[in-house]
Amino acid sequence: MSRPFTLDVAVARHIARNKIRREKRFPFVTMLEPLEACNLACAGCGRVREYRDVIDRRLSVDECLAAVRASGAPIVSVSGGEPLLHGQIGDIVRALRDDGRFMYLCTNGLLLREKLDLFPPSRQLCFVVHLDGTEAVHDSVTERPGTHKTAVAGIRAAIEQGGLDNLEAVTRTIESSGGLEYTARLAQREKDLAIEALGRLPESAHRQALQALAEFAVGRSY
Ligand code: SF4
Repeated sequence: MSRPFTLDVAVARHIARNKIRREKRFPFVTMLEPLEACNLACAGCGRVREYRDVIDRRLSVDECLAAVRASGAPIVSVSGGEPLLHGQIGDIVRALRDDGRFMYLCTNGLLLREKLDLFPPSRQLCFVVHLDGTEAVHDSVTERPGTHKTAVAGIRAAIEQGGLDNLEAVTRTIESSGGLEYTARLAQREKDLAIEALGRLPESAHRQALQALAEFAVGRSY
C-alpha cells in the first residue's frame, strides 16, 4: 500500500535526528510482543512451544509505551503470540498512536472481526494478517479447520471499516505484492498436471472437453 506521507516525514525526521547525534546505528522498527500466548498452535511454531515459561505474562500499556520510547523507532510491529488476545490491546495501540508511532499489528485474524471496534481507522495503523496459502493449506498449517475462512472474514471486515475510499490502495497493495501472479502461476501448474493426468485416459470427446475446461479455467485474465 502506498505509505502515508506522514510516515515518510516521521522516518526522515528520525534519520535526521540520529545523524545530528552522530548515531551510527539506530532502529527503524521495534518488534513489540505484549504477550506470547496464542489461540492457535500452528505446526512448526516455536513461539507457543519455546516460550511456555512466560506464556501467561502480559506487558502493561505503560511497559509497552516505555519499551517503544526507549527504542526510539518510529515504526512498531505489534505481534506475539496473538496480540488481539491481550485485554488492553486497544489501549496499547491508542497509546502508541498518540505517541506518534506507526504500527503494523500482526494477527492470525481469528479475533479481528469481533475486536475491530477497538481500532478506529487511522493512517498510523494497519493490520498484517497471517495466511499460509490456500484454505486447505492454511487450515492444515494451523491444524484447525475454518481458520482461513475466519481470517478472510476479518480482513474483509477491516477493509470495510477502513472505508471503501481506500479500496484502490488495497487493490494496489495486492497487485504490488505479486500475489496475483503467484496465484496465476500456481493455477497454471495445476492445470498442466491435470492435462497431463487426463492425457493418460483413452481419447474421447469427454477427455477433450475436460482438457478444454482446464485450459479455459486458467486462460482468463484478472
Ligand atoms: S498464529 Fe502465529 S504465534 Fe500463533 S501459533 Fe500460529 S504461528 Fe504461532
